[in-house]
Amino acid sequence: MNTSYSALDTFLTCPLKYKYSQIDKIKTPKSKEQFFGTLLHNALKLVHAPGILSPTLEQALDFYSKNWNAEVFSDETEERAAFAQGVSMLQDYYKKNDPSKVNIVDLESRFQVEIGEDDEKHIVSGIIDRIDKTENGYEIIDYKTTRKLPSQEKVDNDLQLSIYLGGFLKRYPKELENLDKVKVSLYYLKHGVKLSSQRTLEQINQSKQLIVDLIKEIQKSKFEPQISGLCDWCGYQNICPMWKHKFKDKKESIEVDKIINEYIALKDEIKSRSDRAAEIQEILGKYMDDEKVDQVFSDAGRILRTIRKTYKYDEKKLRDILEPLDKWEEVLKIDGIALKNILGVLPYEARKDVERVKEIDKESKSFIVKKT
Ligand code: SF4
Repeated sequence: MNTSYSALDTFLTCPLKYKYSQIDKIKTPKSKEQFFGTLLHNALKLVHAPGILSPTLEQALDFYSKNWNAEVFSDETEERAAFAQGVSMLQDYYKKNDPSKVNIVDLESRFQVEIGEDDEKHIVSGIIDRIDKTENGYEIIDYKTTRKLPSQEKVDNDLQLSIYLGGFLKRYPKELENLDKVKVSLYYLKHGVKLSSQRTLEQINQSKQLIVDLIKEIQKSKFEPQISGLCDWCGYQNICPMWKHKFKDKKESIEVDKIINEYIALKDEIKSRSDRAAEIQEILGKYMDDEKVDQVFSDAGRILRTIRKTYKYDEKKLRDILEPLDKWEEVLKIDGIALKNILGVLPYEARKDVERVKEIDKESKSFIVKKT
């Protein structure tokens, strides 16, 4: 299979979106997020373009303004906010980086790597935003314009960076011996933060296997839709079965519309009532503690506070008791129900031993209402 990191990522996000874009090849207009990301990438490409003099911040901002397209945004407020955000991202980039001081080896470096063996050979391609020569090695950098900053752990396991490193190593195979001197980084422009990591040879091989497994999954996939927050940015909503109703002529279904609205309003009401019930429980609980009572009365009825306990058992001790009685196998993973079932048939002494290894796992209070 010929694929790319972004295609694999699309499959992980939503198999149906993968089918629409990679198999059916259905084109969608560029979203405002894609437009914004591409413009920022192009501006940074200009910032680091080889030349005697690096462009100034003013020149970078001039390029950004001249290539801005207000049309892709839905209203002026949104458009102005996005434009200002891009300006501040470039300003911050210049504040934290001196373009004349970095030693760039390549920009938008295209690669193709072969993954898998024999009849399971695949080609994964991609474009590395930037490769720098550092003091003692190299740094592979990918710019991100997304809002969410990942944890360091996520960056350390990021599949995209592993694939990009594979692409880099194809071009610089000798660097395989110097992996400790090759950094892989994600530069989050909105936060002005660069998160870096490294990979061992073992991790590179693991990520190759991961890709082979993922491709196998794609090959046998039924391409089911996967609803998530990312649907809001999906260009296939109008043909996706999960969003079909959104585009239906609502004149035909005024009744359904009413029912949907009523259900949403009802859910809101249930939520706010249950929030209020929790608040009242807290107030009542405090009152009962102060008064040292577990039952309170009013004209409407009474409320009884009870304590519900769940137990856990010390596995080793329980096993020591049940194994000699040939009952351990029946309990195995200390399933509460299985244990309860066999307790009845245990000798009295063994039952008492089981009681002794029991500890409280969770305790929850409940309020029982009795109306008068
Ligand atoms: S709208 Fe959501 S579920 Fe439908 S194809 Fe797009 S991402 Fe998948």
